[in-house]
Amino acid sequence: EQRNDKIPATLIAGDGIGPEVTKATVAVLDALGAPFEWDERKAGMSAVNDGGDPLPSATLDSIRRTRLALKGPLTTPVGGGFRSVNVRLREEFKLYANLRPAKTIIPGRYDNIDIVLVRENIEGLYVAHEHFIPVGNDPRAVAVSTGVNTRDGCRRIARFAFEYAVSHGRKKITIVHKANVLKALTGIFLEAAREVATEYAGRVEVDDRIVDACAMQLVLNPSQFDMLLCTNLFGDILSDELAGLVGGLGLAPGANIGEHAAIFEAVHGSAPDIAGKGVANPVSLMLAAGLMLEHVGRADLAGRLRQAISVTLLEDQVRTRDLGGTAGTDAFTAALIRRL
Ligand code: NAD
Repeated sequence: EQRNDKIPATLIAGDGIGPEVTKATVAVLDALGAPFEWDERKAGMSAVNDGGDPLPSATLDSIRRTRLALKGPLTTPVGGGFRSVNVRLREEFKLYANLRPAKTIIPGRYDNIDIVLVRENIEGLYVAHEHFIPVGNDPRAVAVSTGVNTRDGCRRIARFAFEYAVSHGRKKITIVHKANVLKALTGIFLEAAREVATEYAGRVEVDDRIVDACAMQLVLNPSQFDMLLCTNLFGDILSDELAGLVGGLGLAPGANIGEHAAIFEAVHGSAPDIAGKGVANPVSLMLAAGLMLEHVGRADLAGRLRQAISVTLLEDQVRTRDLGGTAGTDAFTAALIRRL
């Protein structure tokens, strides 16, 4: 009877390769029998061309209603005073948790990476209250930026990470910080995370690492890590490092989860250099759709999707150009659907 329980979800195709990888992902979800009932809305450049606003109120209203979205990459218009749509979405829906799992599908430099990074998504240095101080003739002689971490915000993201660990059978969380230098800004994060960790004692192990050492250890010996819990800036950087460890942008999904909605997307951008050529790798967005299935309690379907992606890439050796293959987006998608 589950098949009739449709779950409303907002679909944003996005810009550049967005429409190509979104179409491929929706076809695969259909083949899988996924329960989503799509409400397709615009954002990004396509929305600017329509009505001038890269984040129209119809799109916001749709997400307010569904509280769930699958989003293609958006091109942020340069100049014209536009704020990043992704940042606006994070603020509007308080998407405080950025979830970035990195798992090896195609063995490469490393064979067996399986690390989940949780990044605080709306505080820290990305609050970016910035200004210049003039000295002498130079109006911009000194640049100042302020970061903001709140104890509540730190506790909230820590609790998200520990709850994720418990519900996904994860063993250890490494808190990433720079509390030896940024004693207040990242000290409060370390302190709050350690405090939340005590509630999970005996269930989830905890340790901590200074961010620079962590970046090096990820390259030298990634298998020592299970989950990473990071502030906004450090998480931004380390999550891309993680994507690199498992084969790059074509295989990296992300989720932005908050109090009022959850938005799932590929980590890559709109790839204007290959847009419209039919060669984009749709796997990142498909893996993001897998996270979305888990989020709505359909880990069974997410598992099948992941398995089919892995078999198509490894056994059938059907791969897009970025992974060294020759298949276009449609050919890859057709091969994957055959496996499903
Ligand atoms: P990008 O990720 O779009 O592209 C970087 C390189 O990776 C390009 O050579 C591209 O061809 C390649 N690539 C990316 N995704 C691919 C895929 N699925 N298959 C094959 N190759 C792929 O990064 P960029 O060029 O720095 O950014 C382009 C635009 O995307 C900018 O406007 C940026 O603001 C936007 N962007 C949006 C998001 C988002 O919406 N979440 C994220 C990052 C960048």
